Amino acid sequence: MELDRRKFLRVCGATAGTLMLPRGLVYAGTQPELPPGAGMLCDLTRCIGCGYCQRACCEWNQLNPSEASATAKELDCGLSAELWTFPELREIEEDGKQFRVFVKRQCMHCLEPACVSACPVGALSRLENGAVTYDESKCIGCRYCMVACPYSVPKFEWDERLPRIRKCTFCADRQAQGMEPACSAACPTGTLTFGKRDELIAEAKARIQADPANYVSHIYGQDELGGSSWLYLSPVPFEKLGFPEFKTEPVTGLSEAVATYGTAGVAASVAAMLGGFYWLNHRKSEPELQEPASKGEGAEQ
Ligand code: SF4
Ligand code: SF4
Ligand code: SF4
Repeated sequence: MELDRRKFLRVCGATAGTLMLPRGLVYAGTQPELPPGAGMLCDLTRCIGCGYCQRACCEWNQLNPSEASATAKELDCGLSAELWTFPELREIEEDGKQFRVFVKRQCMHCLEPACVSACPVGALSRLENGAVTYDESKCIGCRYCMVACPYSVPKFEWDERLPRIRKCTFCADRQAQGMEPACSAACPTGTLTFGKRDELIAEAKARIQADPANYVSHIYGQDELGGSSWLYLSPVPFEKLGFPEFKTEPVTGLSEAVATYGTAGVAASVAAMLGGFYWLNHRKSEPELQEPASKGEGAEQ
C-alpha cells in the first residue's frame, strides 16, 4: 500500500498525539564504499571505564550530552539523543567474588533489525557493512522504531521543534572514509576491536578457549535475535549485567516485538499504530472528501 505522506502524518497525529516533520539529512548513504560484514568486539574484561569512547563519540558526532546525560540515567538504558554510548558500571557478586564491570552501551546494529522492520517509511536501513543508519528526510516522527527496538536504543529529541531519532550510526561515515569508528579508535585498553564480524567471532572464541577462567563461554550478539554486528565477551553471565536474554530468532515487526518482550506500553503503542492503519484504510475506502490544505501541510509537500 502506497501511503500518502500527508495523510499518514495526520494518522500519526491522531494516534500518537504527535506530528513531527523532518529537517535536512544527517547522514546520506555511502553504501558503495563501505566494507561489507563489519563488526565490533567489545571485551568487557578489558574495559576500565575511562570514558574515552564516550568522549570520542560525542566529539565526532557533535553531541552535547551535558544536559541530556543528567537525565539519561533515568531512562531505560541510559542512552539519550545526545549520548549514544557510555560505559555503565555494574557491581555484582558471582561465585562469592566481587566484580566491577563496565558495560559499553550503544546500538547493537542487529543483522535483522526490528527498528528497520517497524519503520513504515524506510527512514532506518541496514547498510551492507552492518551499520543501521537513519535518514531524517524520510522520518515522520512516529517513533515505532523506539517501540520495536529490543535494546531500547533509539532516542527522540523531545525538546526540539523538529525532533529526530538519534542513535549510534556505527560511524558509517567514518567507515566510508576508510576509518574505524571513533570509539574503538580512542579506546586505550583494547576493549574494542573493529574488524570483520566472522573474524571477530573466531577471535572471541580463541580468547574464551585461551582463558576460560576469566570469560563466560558465551559471545553475546553472535546469535541473539538473529545476531548483531556488535559482539560482547564478559567475565560474568550476561544477564547479571543487564543484557536481555533473547532467543535466536529475529523480531521482524512491532506485533512480534510485543510477543517477544512486550509491555503494556508497547502493546498500547502497537494498538495505536494498528488503529492508525485501520483508520487510514477506512478513510481510503470512503469517497474522498476535498479539504483545503492548511498552510503548514502545503509547506511540507
Ligand atoms: S539495537 Fe535497536 S536500534 Fe540498534 S539495530 Fe537493533 S533494533 Fe535497531
Ligand atoms: S560506533 Fe561511532 S556512533 Fe557508535 S558508539 Fe562508537 S563512536 Fe559512537
Ligand atoms: S575507552 Fe575503552 S576502556 Fe575506556 S571506557 Fe571506553 S571501552 Fe572502556
